[in-house]
Amino acid sequence: MMATPTHGSALMQYCPACGHCAFRANSPKSFLCSRCGFILYMNAAAAVAALIESNGDLLLTVRAHNPSAGMLDLPGGFVDHQETIEAALVRELREELGVDIVAAMMGDRSTSPHSLSPHSTSPRSSSSLSQTNTSTHKYTTLTSCYVGSYPNTYHYRGITYETVDMFYQIVLPHKPDLQADDDVSDLIWVPKQEIPFDDIAFSSARDILQQCYSSSTDAR
Ligand SMILES: [Zn+2]
Repeated sequence: MMATPTHGSALMQYCPACGHCAFRANSPKSFLCSRCGFILYMNAAAAVAALIESNGDLLLTVRAHNPSAGMLDLPGGFVDHQETIEAALVRELREELGVDIVAAMMGDRSTSPHSLSPHSTSPRSSSSLSQTNTSTHKYTTLTSCYVGSYPNTYHYRGITYETVDMFYQIVLPHKPDLQADDDVSDLIWVPKQEIPFDDIAFSSARDILQQCYSSSTDAR
């Protein structure tokens, strides 16, 4: 019996190896070409997002684009190839909020993604090895903020991407200057007791928000 595909089988009709149309989902996460034997795996994509808190409020974003344009989300996004989770989170928060989140964690109000924090080494004057060490050290600040992960299903232009979304909880001493950009049309701070769970775009973000902030669970 053919497994039910959870991805975009309607768009995946031809084998990318031999071009034949004998290309079918043979499991929920793979396609098999019955002519040449090629198998295409659709493994879960990694994504990361942040629960950014300051003075009792939580930061939510308004999605600028589909899927779920106009609904609320957490700042974050997909992890690039050969990128760590922590580096992806720092990059996404820089792109979507215009903030150097590590500097903001250390209390820098006027942090800018265009200026390196005083603890960073200038990329132009350092070797690639010391850059790597600096980055690794920089991102260890984030590792203790990890709270957990939930799976999600992300529909985009006829393809269904199964993702695993990882979440970090970051408490800032001050609300930094933020600028919505990239995939984000607006930013809102909401009291942690008044999170509009029904307006959250994706189940993974809803699940982590309910885990961390639902009134039925102990407050952190
Ligand atoms: Zn083939």
